[in-house]
Amino acid sequence: MENKPYILVVEDDKPIRNFITAALSAQGFKYMETDKGNDAVALSMSHNPDLIILDLGLPDIDGIEVIAKVRQWSKTPIIIVSARENERQKVEALDKGADDYLTKPFGIGELLARIRVSLRHTAMNQSPNIDKDLFKVKNLVVDFNKRRVVINNEEIHLTPIEFKIMSLLCKYPGKVLTHNFIIHEIWGAELGNETQSLRVFMASLRRKIEKNPAQPEYIYTEVGVGYRLVDE
Ligand code: CA
Repeated sequence: MENKPYILVVEDDKPIRNFITAALSAQGFKYMETDKGNDAVALSMSHNPDLIILDLGLPDIDGIEVIAKVRQWSKTPIIIVSARENERQKVEALDKGADDYLTKPFGIGELLARIRVSLRHTAMNQSPNIDKDLFKVKNLVVDFNKRRVVINNEEIHLTPIEFKIMSLLCKYPGKVLTHNFIIHEIWGAELGNETQSLRVFMASLRRKIEKNPAQPEYIYTEVGVGYRLVDE
């Protein structure tokens, strides 16, 4: 990326907004800031930022509404910043098209890591040179064409559903995928009893790829939200 990414910060809590923008400037990012949802929609239209950091509880329109509006014309990555008590809202935001979330309070390191992941996804999606047949992270290699999964140089056998889930996670490394999203992609069903089935499949997938499934190295659980594959 030649130019430093341009980031829109939408947060009505001034100390938090200052904390975020200070971290962005320290990293040399350019940014715009606003405390209102309507301004966020207008600014993202007029300035087409590379990424949006968005609070959900805003004084005018809700963050969820901002996502819905921005997603009508733009794929700009959106990272939600939200309080822990808004778990359900967070899931809704992700299902509406947000890319990731941070729970307040969060550290600068965590914020910057999420920004890097989201910007990398954009770069990856735009690059024709990335090998789309092979995914590698740590000691895990997934070959989509041969439907092979290798861990620590040993091939492991996955059932067709497990392989589908694994492939889906590999398509979005570092990004949290909600239960609803995974279920929709794998079974094409709306959220029902499938959450339980998903848990069962994830447990068996973990037993096969994780040395210690209770302390996973590859697939993290985002409690109450979904799963995230490690990306570096
Ligand atoms: Ca707020």
